[in-house]
Amino acid sequence: MSPSKRLFVFDFDWTLIDADSDYFVFEHLNAELSKIQLDSIGKVQWTDLQQRLLGELFDRGVSREDIERTLTSIPFAPERIEALKLMKEQGSDLYILSDANTVYIETVLKAYNIDNLFTGILTNPAQFDSRGRLNVTRYHGLDKEPHRCPLPCEPNLCKGLEFQKLIDSYNWTQVIYMGDASNDFCPSTHLSRERGDLVLARRGLSLEQRIRERPDLVKAEIVYWQDAQDVLEATKDIFFGGRDRVSSLTSTAFSSTTSLSTMVESSSSSILASSPIDEIKAVSATSQQVLSAVESSDSKMFAQAVKA
Ligand SMILES: [Mg+2]
Ligand SMILES: [Zn+2]
Repeated sequence: MSPSKRLFVFDFDWTLIDADSDYFVFEHLNAELSKIQLDSIGKVQWTDLQQRLLGELFDRGVSREDIERTLTSIPFAPERIEALKLMKEQGSDLYILSDANTVYIETVLKAYNIDNLFTGILTNPAQFDSRGRLNVTRYHGLDKEPHRCPLPCEPNLCKGLEFQKLIDSYNWTQVIYMGDASNDFCPSTHLSRERGDLVLARRGLSLEQRIRERPDLVKAEIVYWQDAQDVLEATKDIFFGGRDRVSSLTSTAFSSTTSLSTMVESSSSSILASSPIDEIKAVSATSQQVLSAVESSDSKMFAQAVKA
């Protein structure tokens, strides 16, 4: 019999760190390229755009050391580190599943001495060449068949597809996915209610929007969080929350923490359960508009946060 073990899978940008690493690098190293990056949102495939802009950054004299120094200045909240260490101490496996790249993520983790907590990092491969130019390529390369995921996944990465492989790799006691954005919706649909799986969704960003549009697709319990302290509280509850984990999450465990007591919702309890056919029609009719709006408000929010 395999030992009892939980699987935690994390998005990186705006989930483990309170920044978008792709924006952060350009914002701090070249204002002009940073503006091009922001103006190109939705017009160019994102990984290909980073590869092109990193070439221009190199041509303007920005060195490998400059990029590494910038990455190590990205803040990593101590409460999140405490939560990650707790997960690891309790015997869980931790993975990162991200649309950033290997160099950005590994450099940040090493700066905080937490790279050893993770079993694996699934993201776009990157490396510096001998001159110090950083190259990044698509995780799901153009040499492969398109993944054809119908959910809002980018052509270079269907997180749900990769997440399912991790889920299938072991007989997990519980699986927890944590994310913030549209491309975190697909993996959120791969969880199981029977196993007591959880989605830890960041409040107010596009993952929450997607879940509210299609709550029927997410079977797991959803815990909404806003900051690193919420994540730490939720982690403690996962491990020490009491006999009946789900009922503790929805009632007693968070009753003393006002920020969390209102965050826990069953995915099936919101739009569809309370509102029959009319609202379902309304949701699908406006779906496309909502999706575009969510995307643009995301990028604005990212830009503002990085500039702040
Ligand atoms: Mg993210
Ligand atoms: Zn997908």
